[in-house]
Order: sequence, then structure tokens, then C-alpha cells
Amino acid sequence: MEKVASQTEPNPFEEMVQRFNIAAEKLKLDDGLYQVLLTPDREIGVAIPVLMDNGSLKVFKGYRVQHSVARGPGKGGIRYAPDVTLDEVRALAAWMTWKCAVVNLPFGGAKGGIVCDPKKLSNAELEKLTRRYTASLIDVIGPDRDVPAPDVNTDERIMAWIMDTYSMHARRTVTGVVTGKPLDLGGSVGRREATGRGCKIVCDRAISRFGMKRENTRVIIQGFGNVGSMAAHILYGAGYSIIGVSDVHGAIINTLGINITKLMAHVHEAKTVAGFPDAEPISGEELLVQPCDILLPAATENQITHENAGSIQARIICEGANGPTTAQADEILFDKKVFIIPDILANAGGVTVSYFEWVQDRQGYFWNLKTVNERLEEIMVNSFDTVASYADRHSVNMRIAAYMLAIDRVAFTIRERGIYA
Ligand code: NAD
Repeated sequence: MEKVASQTEPNPFEEMVQRFNIAAEKLKLDDGLYQVLLTPDREIGVAIPVLMDNGSLKVFKGYRVQHSVARGPGKGGIRYAPDVTLDEVRALAAWMTWKCAVVNLPFGGAKGGIVCDPKKLSNAELEKLTRRYTASLIDVIGPDRDVPAPDVNTDERIMAWIMDTYSMHARRTVTGVVTGKPLDLGGSVGRREATGRGCKIVCDRAISRFGMKRENTRVIIQGFGNVGSMAAHILYGAGYSIIGVSDVHGAIINTLGINITKLMAHVHEAKTVAGFPDAEPISGEELLVQPCDILLPAATENQITHENAGSIQARIICEGANGPTTAQADEILFDKKVFIIPDILANAGGVTVSYFEWVQDRQGYFWNLKTVNERLEEIMVNSFDTVASYADRHSVNMRIAAYMLAIDRVAFTIRERGIYA
């Protein structure tokens, strides 16, 4: 079969394709389905004019990619960042398809992004940008079409604006159009910490596989935003020893363990982990290669590459971020017998509780935290165990097993639905 070629310095979409190719080969996926699964259903680019506070007019570029809606409505976050590209959004949309399939949710995969630096925008500008982007996508999003959620630099407040704009157009309140909303606007308890909680659940599974105990497990976390801080908080609460943490401004280490409750109070004030008094400063690059048991990248793509993979000293990598490890790094880490819990499994706790939020919105009946967390635990444990046994059965690593499982599930649905002509 003719494959999509990969380059030496792959972009995020190429990174996804490289893993897809290995899994497709193992599954003996036929040429037609190979093409269907790698071609996004729909890619939308929108121009977003915003009247800035100083009276000038500025045009921002926005995207929404719906990679697959075979298994249900598209599902995936929206990120606001200066370096957003269509290729990145395309990769993230495909990862969402595989992620929803790995944890067996009735969703396809989508992702959105706006090229902007939210730190340089006022609240009013951010709101106008969000509302105009939503209005431009009004025909393609919706509870039964495509359900956005927060991602890098987007939060509950932005989800509330999206929900309100969509509802104004629909002439009724439609809470199920986005997830990750504030609680009193149809949000779900447990959503904010869900990705971090999911990371903790799969870390528990991984350490028990190796006969390790939480209290002897040293964890380093890259990124202290939604995923990183919540993972730190929950792992710390469960007895893990968090010895290093970084964010975009700096990194800290204390081999005796960091008090995460105190660190969170420091970050609340200082807006960065840097300067935390009970730890030593270290560079972000150095932190990644310090001795530890679990390395949990929770920042951005391509952080573990062929350049630093050889120096990584972790036994387990739990990918809180999407695409933190390059395909080249994968091979090096595989040779070093590092156990990787791949992004499409490790960080699926977020989309799982997003699914719960969507279900609750549609039912108009809201669950308590115990129910949300128990159902999340059940899905994450089952998914980890399914991927792990798939890996053992097919003699592949966890990443390729997760891809194979996901591709198999999506391909099965497409075959069952048939091709409409
Ligand atoms: P966020 O914006 O809340 O936090 C990102 C964090 O990473 C910030 O602390 C930032 O300072 C830090 N960071 C950025 N570049 C860094 C670098 N080079 N070194 C160290 N730290 C750096 O974003 P988030 O929602 O926590 O998402 C993080 C990752 O997790 C992304 O890859 C996202 O796609 C993925 N993810 C998020 C969710 C979710 O529920 N929020 C779910 C699944 C996956």
C-alpha cells in the first residue's frame, strides 16, 4: 500500500502518521480504509475579525478539524496559542479519534485552534474572538455534530462564551455544545481534575505491574497547568513522591519530595513554580533527564526527542500531554525498556469526564463526584488493562497496541456503517 511519507524532522501530523503506519501494518489494514482513516473528514479555516480595545481591527486565523465522526460526534478541545498550525490541529484531531476509541466512547475526533497570544488580549478582546469564532462554526458544531472542550490556554470561561453564543443562535440554551463548562452552566463535577486523575489511575496500574509501591515512586512533572498541577495534586495526595516540576518560566527539584499543597499556594501567588523556597532551581531540559521512576510530560508536543531520549532515566513515562514523545524517541526508549503509557490512553481521563458531562447535559440529571470518579476509574482501569493485554498478545509496545486497538475499532465501525455513495 502506498503510505504517507514521513520526514526526518516530522511535524505533529507526521508523528501521528508514523505510529499509525506501524499499527496499520500489524493490522494488515487494507488500502481503502488506510486512506479513509488518515484523511480528515472536514477541515475548516476561518478568518476572525476583532475590534480591538484601541479601536483598530485585527484579523485572527482559526481552525476546526473534524478528523472522524464515524463513531459519534466529533470531540476535541480548542487551543489558543501563537504557534497553532493547521498540521498541529489536524494531528490533535486524529489523536482525539484514537483516544475516544481507546477508551471506547461514542465520539469521533476533532480539534480547534486560534492563532493568537491570549496573554496579550484583554478580556473583552478574548470574548469577541471566542464569540466570532463560534459564530463562524455554528453550522458544524453542536451536541450531535462536534463538541469542543478546553485545551491549552482555554478554560471554563471561554467554554461559557461558546455555549452562550451557540445558544443565542439556536434561540434556546444548548449546554451540550461544549464540555469543560462552569458547574452552574451544565458542567460536571470532577471535570477540572479528570485528566490528572486519569493519569494517576494509569500510573497506579503501571507501578503495580512492576511491583512498585506509591511511597517509593519518584515522579517528575513537566508543565503545571490544568493537567500537570492536577496530576501533581492527586498523585501527591495518593502518596507518590513528586520530586521535580516545571512550567514555561522555570523548573524546581527536591529529591526528598515537594509538598504540592504548598507549591500550589506558591503558584497561586507567583503564577509560576519558579522561586518555590523548598526546592532547588534547575533548567527545564535538565529536569527531564533526572533520575526518577515516572516522568509525566504535561506541557506540549515534541518534548522527548532523539536528542534527550537517550538520557531519560525514568522507568515509566505517563504522557499527560498530547504528542510529547517523537517517533524517533519512542525507538530509543523502547530499547531502554522504558514503559510508556501513551497519550491516547494516559490523558483520556479528560475526554471521559467530558463524555459524562455531555451525557448529564442531555439527561438534565447531574451526578455526584463519587459517581463521576468511580465511572472514570472503571473506564481508565479497563482501558489500561485492555491495551496492556493487547500489547502482550501482539508483542508490541503500549503505544502501538493503543493505536491498533483504536484503529481496529474505528475501522470496524466504518465497515459496519458501509460507504454511502
Ligand atoms: P495548560 O495551558 O493549562 O498548561 C500548560 C502548562 O505547560 C503550563 O504550566 C505551561 O507553563 C507549561 N509549559 C509550556 N511549555 C513548557 C515547557 N517547554 N516546559 C515546561 N512547561 C511548559 O494546558 P493543559 O490543559 O494542562 O494541557 C497540557 C497538555 O495536556 C497539552 O498537550 C494538552 O493537549 C494535553 N491535554 C489536556 C487535557 C485537558 O483536560 N486540559 C486533556 C488531554 C490532554
